[in-house]
Order: sequence, then structure tokens, then C-alpha cells
Amino acid sequence: MLLEGARVRDQIEAELKPRTERLARERRAPGLAVILAGHNPASEIYVRNKVQACQRLGIYSEKLTPPHTVTTAELLEAVGRLNHRPEIDGILIQLPLPPQVDSKTVLLAVDPDKDVDGFHPLNMGRLFTGRPGTRPCTPLGILEILRRYQIPLLGRRAVVVGRSDIVGKPVAMLLLAEHATVTICHSRTADLPAVCRQADILVAAIGRPAMLTADFIQEGATVIDVGTNRLSTREEVAQVFRGSPEKLADFDRKGSLLIGDVHPLDVTQKAGAYTPVPGGVGPLTIAALMLNTVESAERRLGLCSG
Ligand code: NDP
Repeated sequence: MLLEGARVRDQIEAELKPRTERLARERRAPGLAVILAGHNPASEIYVRNKVQACQRLGIYSEKLTPPHTVTTAELLEAVGRLNHRPEIDGILIQLPLPPQVDSKTVLLAVDPDKDVDGFHPLNMGRLFTGRPGTRPCTPLGILEILRRYQIPLLGRRAVVVGRSDIVGKPVAMLLLAEHATVTICHSRTADLPAVCRQADILVAAIGRPAMLTADFIQEGATVIDVGTNRLSTREEVAQVFRGSPEKLADFDRKGSLLIGDVHPLDVTQKAGAYTPVPGGVGPLTIAALMLNTVESAERRLGLCSG
């Protein structure tokens, strides 16, 4: 079964629309501020997509674009100003920040109540100790896919490959909270294929194209592929897609191909359910950001959902 991110995104947006309308009617529209420092083409696309999602849902959005020479002190000042503006419910700092900036210090300066990315250590602590709080967007999106496709988690074995603060660790905690038995793997894990083969739910958040091949996947497992990698040579495309003329033609047209961390042909053979790349986890990250922004507005304005 294909786990379609766009379908789940549309469901989430349809549920959010009446909530933003109610906020606008009874108080004011939710407000999201995005800080996009310097010129990173991928970040610019992500931010554009986030702003468009806000427009679809009636969320006020504001984009701050400091130059690539911006300092940590300047960003701290900008964050401080946003922290104090009552009509801003969410502050998003698009990563990566330019290399001279101390990203951890800037992220720490965001008011935890406006931390719609869920990266503030206070919100991380809430997640790790099972308290209510804002959850990081990509992991939250993954749980929404699993829940809405009714993939059972209770008592199941979940294996997460990757231990980043953004994806691996928080998704593992969310799966644990749903009573899965969770193993977290990384670059030093011994016999990774054998560990992955135990997974009823396998989450790949690695950043290595098509690394998890058939021998990593248990027959019938649910596979969530978070990886977004670009194949930029014909040779790579021919190798991964085993000479497929359609994929080579696709590559010739586009100049590169987006693939995940799981082998795109093997996963179709072995998994019971899987997220494709593109079209799986990707659309959910922004939907989860919208959810976090609306919830922040409702909380800050004292309006409960439902
Ligand atoms: P990081 O680079 O921060 O983390 C990668 C993790 O993978 C690390 O824990 C690393 O282990 C592990 N790893 C690397 N190589 C291996 C290996 N050979 N065997 C086992 N584990 C390995 O990446 P992120 O978590 O930020 O992102 C992961 C992927 O997800 C990327 O492709 C990114 O683009 C994508 N992504 C997609 C999003 C979406 O919306 N679809 C959102 C966020 C990320 P170690 O800790 O030992 O170094």
C-alpha cells in the first residue's frame, strides 16, 4: 500500500481551515513569522511552500530575510522582537543558518510558546518526559501518516535509522509514546541489515540515497522514508533504477532526480506499506507546521479546539 503524504496533508488542512476561520472570527488570524537568512535555494523553496500553505489556510505570515552576513547578535535581536509581538504565534528559523551564526543560541532564544518547530530544549524535554508540548514537524507528520492509515504501533517493533535532533530522536520518542518497542540506529550500529529486518515499522532518516535495500526490509513491514537526496548523474540513476528507460528519460528532462534513503524498487517488492519519495513524508512536514501554528494561536488566545 502506498502511504500518500498529499492525501494526509489535504485531510489535515481541511480540518485546520474551520479552526483558523473561527480564530479569525472570534479573535484574530494565527500569525507565523519565518526568518530566512542568506540565499539557500532549497531553503527558499521550503519557505515559499510554507508561506503558500499559510495563504491557503488564512494564516497571517511574515518573512524576514536578513543577508548572508547576518550575525548571531542581529538574529537574537530579531527573534527578541518577534517574541514580544502578540499577534505572532509562531516563529520559524529556517535552517541551515549561515556558518558564522551560532544556530543553537538562536534557536534557544525563541519563546518556547512560539516554537512551532518544536526544536527548543524545553519542548524537547516535554516530548522526552511525555508532557504536552509542541512536537517537531517532520516526526509529527510521520505519526499522522501512521495514525490515519491505521498502521498498528502498540507492541510492534519500530526501528529508526538516524539519531538527529530534528528527525531520528523525536520520531523514536513519538513511537515509544504509542507503545512501540523502539530501536534507534546510527552510523556505528553493528549489523544494520539484521536490526532493520526485525522492524514492523522501519523509519529511514539518514540522508544516503537508496541505502536501505531489500535485505534491510522485513517482508510486509511498513517503511517510512524521510530521506531527500538528489541523484545528479546519469550513472547513479541507471544504477539505482537498474537501467529503467523511463527513469533515465525523467532524469534527462529534469537534470536530477529526488530519491529517498530506501531503495525505490526494493521497497515496492518487500514492504506492506510505504511512503514514496517524493510524495510521502515531504508534504506532511508543512502540514504539521500549520497544525503547530494553529494550536499555538488557540493556546495563546485561550480558545480550545473542538
Ligand atoms: P542528519 O545528517 O542530521 O542525521 C543523519 C543520521 O543518519 C545520523 O544519525 C547518522 O548517524 C545516520 N547515518 C548516516 N550514515 C549512516 C549509515 N551508513 N548507517 C547508519 N546510519 C547512518 O540528517 P537529518 O536527520 O536532518 O535528515 C535525514 C534525512 O531526512 C536527510 O535526507 C534530510 O534531507 C531528510 N529530511 C527530510 C525532511 C522532509 O520533510 N521530508 C525533513 C528533515 C530531513 P551518526 O549520528 O552516527 O552520524
